[in-house]
Amino acid sequence: MEAARTIRRKRDGHRLERDEILGFVSDYTRGEIPDYQASALLMAVYFRGLDARETADLTDAILHSGQTVDLSDFPEPKVDKHSTGGVGDKASLIIAPAAAAAGLLVPMISGRGLGHTGGTLDKLESIPGFRTRLTISEFRQALGRTGAALIGQTDELAPADRKLYALRDVTGTVESIPLISASIMGKKLAEGIDALVLDVKAGSGAFMKKLDAARELARSMVAIGTAFGRRVNALLTDMNQPLGCAVGNSLEVIEVLETLKGRGPRSLIEVSRELTALMFLLGGLEANLEDARVRFDQVLSSGAALGKFAEIVAEQGGDPAVVGDYARLPQAHYQDSVVAWHEGYISRLDAEALGYASMRLGAGRERLDSIIDPAAGLVFEKSIGDPVQAGERVCVLYANDRSRLPEVHAAVRAAIGISPEPVQPPRLILELIT
Ligand code: URA
Repeated sequence: MEAARTIRRKRDGHRLERDEILGFVSDYTRGEIPDYQASALLMAVYFRGLDARETADLTDAILHSGQTVDLSDFPEPKVDKHSTGGVGDKASLIIAPAAAAAGLLVPMISGRGLGHTGGTLDKLESIPGFRTRLTISEFRQALGRTGAALIGQTDELAPADRKLYALRDVTGTVESIPLISASIMGKKLAEGIDALVLDVKAGSGAFMKKLDAARELARSMVAIGTAFGRRVNALLTDMNQPLGCAVGNSLEVIEVLETLKGRGPRSLIEVSRELTALMFLLGGLEANLEDARVRFDQVLSSGAALGKFAEIVAEQGGDPAVVGDYARLPQAHYQDSVVAWHEGYISRLDAEALGYASMRLGAGRERLDSIIDPAAGLVFEKSIGDPVQAGERVCVLYANDRSRLPEVHAAVRAAIGISPEPVQPPRLILELIT
């Protein structure tokens, strides 16, 4: 009766009381409210929205649906970074070791890829042996030893989000600003952090296609963080083309290692530098952004971030020798190339379409239970704005399932635009919300 009343009240545009929200989420998590009633409420929220107070209450309900991690016995500033999800976004694999190498504690709970977006956990698991399923006590131990640990959501942490997110995924209710805000912030606040830097993506490969919506999402999450007494900044970044060159799990790990060795693509370095610099600022390691950027460059050029990456891999059961020997990572048996069909300038690399193309090669999941191929994916040799000659290679496809190549070749070609006129590369860092 109570659940039906809450659904009707939101359907009719009323503001829900704190007790209604906490009660609904807690009963749903315990299995006392069925999926069909939770789906109805999610759809009512999708259309009617939640105000700032209701969104904070939903965050609180998710945060307290399970255990929270207490890291107060660690002396270091505890700072995490979270991205709203994109294509080729491997920045967490650079940022976590760089931030830990500089003295921050980075307790990073990450997600898997779904649909066209990639997931940090899938990328890490392409390293032979790497374990992302740690218990909270193993997580604390890993943090104590290396300063950074990257794990998946456990059953103990924010279980309400795991159930609600799975339901949203199949009921068309993912793209809601209050629901995304509460989902992300509920999990992040459970990690025991002092501060958080959010990378809110805007563009074709992001959940938020338009800058206005991305800005609104960023403001909503920063407001929640502040309401919970945490320092939170959000950087709006472009996701109209893949970040960096590689899309696909082991291919992205290689790009991360190249970046940590000082040979990474400009866009990936720029986004990683800006986000890590904000972490240094919020964690109190540096007093201004200029010095914080210099510190990021130093941990990269000294090799400290690369060394920390190897330490994290070893601590979580992975093979640290991949750092020097990429042949130890899964390799694809087949390759194909997409070349420029005339001379000009790259005007479009549609991130969403390319994310789906990479998924079709096996790099992502078509369904929640699909098994991914860690070696599959795409590597771009051009970015938007680059000049190309006719016949010059724009993208290499990597696959183990050869039968997928012709279809994906056509999809990748359709996602690329070539203009006869010069094209301005898009701005990567769009806005900072503090
Ligand atoms: N990532 C999350 O964790 N939750 C959402 O709702 C969307 C992206």
